[in-house]
Amino acid sequence: MMPTHLRFRRRSFLGLLFLFSLSTSALYFIYSAPGIVNEYVFMVQARGIQLRENVRNIGSQVLEQVVRGAYSVNGTDYAYDFNVSESEAPPTTYLPEGFTYLPSQVCPERLLSMKGKLEVNMSEVSLEEVEKSLLEGEPNRTPGGFWKPKDCLPRWKVAILVPFRNRHEHLPILLRHLVPVLQRQRLQFAFYFVEQGGTEPFNRAMLFNVGFKEAMKDLDWDCLVFHDVDHLMENDRNYYGCADMPRHFAVKLDKYSYMLPYTEFFGGVSGMTVKQFKKINGFPNAFWGWGGEDDDLWNRVRYANYTVSRPHGEQGRYRSISRHHRGEVQFLGRYSLLRHSKERQKVDGLLNLNYSPLVSRRPLYTNITVRLSRELAPVGDY
Ligand code: BGC
Repeated sequence: MMPTHLRFRRRSFLGLLFLFSLSTSALYFIYSAPGIVNEYVFMVQARGIQLRENVRNIGSQVLEQVVRGAYSVNGTDYAYDFNVSESEAPPTTYLPEGFTYLPSQVCPERLLSMKGKLEVNMSEVSLEEVEKSLLEGEPNRTPGGFWKPKDCLPRWKVAILVPFRNRHEHLPILLRHLVPVLQRQRLQFAFYFVEQGGTEPFNRAMLFNVGFKEAMKDLDWDCLVFHDVDHLMENDRNYYGCADMPRHFAVKLDKYSYMLPYTEFFGGVSGMTVKQFKKINGFPNAFWGWGGEDDDLWNRVRYANYTVSRPHGEQGRYRSISRHHRGEVQFLGRYSLLRHSKERQKVDGLLNLNYSPLVSRRPLYTNITVRLSRELAPVGDY
């Protein structure tokens, strides 16, 4: 039997060893995976928001009961939906199955063929397979994947802009998922995948600006959707047409426990009319690396006196494809840039951007490859 003092020493040595390995792996974690750490922070934040939301909801329910009790005769004069958490009104009724409309009429926005909850298939598939299955019965579709409904006049002409790098595997998964949804939503649309070449850090915002300028050479699109390549919507009633205000579509992401991480969050999938996008001078070009460009877009929108609308309830749910994320560096300078969003808005965006793209048409989309560097978007004094 080991003497007591030795047993203690052995235990404290093992304890120290344990603490040491814990702290080194934590350090390694922080050093090697800033993206993961960031997401973790947001998960924690999201859970905090959930707790606060719950407390607030319970509070407002109690208040509602008191007010209702005080003013109504029998306490049941109107239905109150306790699940409604958004400030927006719930969507109006969907048109009945088989509802008929004429080719000369504007397409309805809420058809019953938009069922709501969707199956999300993230399994790997080749582009050729997706082309084959989506183009079946439509062999004459114009290269570039341009599509419009034949049985009514589309309400919106939507260019779906998707920036990416090193993520070719996600393209067919996104197309397989989204093309049938957009067809059911009776929108005119085409996809523009904008691939970053060169060795500079990823610049999501500048790629959107490039995609926009190239898309406008094809057609007078009136609505734009800025879409992350790995985001798959979970509800086909999340309508990808535009509105009188810019829209944030990706409200509830699985990676943030289906919580909005913060009120000004404008990432994942957002959209606005061409008119609104031009008015705010597009995205900023100065965000090299992961993060901040969506926050800057939010600021631009707000400085132009727009508000942002969001889909109601469960309609804004998304899952993201977790495979094939080949780590992009974080942009640590984003906070200092964000302090000057207002001044930079005039001098950095659509107006100061030059580039030379390589454009090719695939059956289901247009591919734009562009080599990005800082000299392409010179910023004057502000
Ligand atoms: C970044 C945003 C990002 C958000 C959520 C923020 O720190 O600036 O670009 O969308 O985190 O991940």
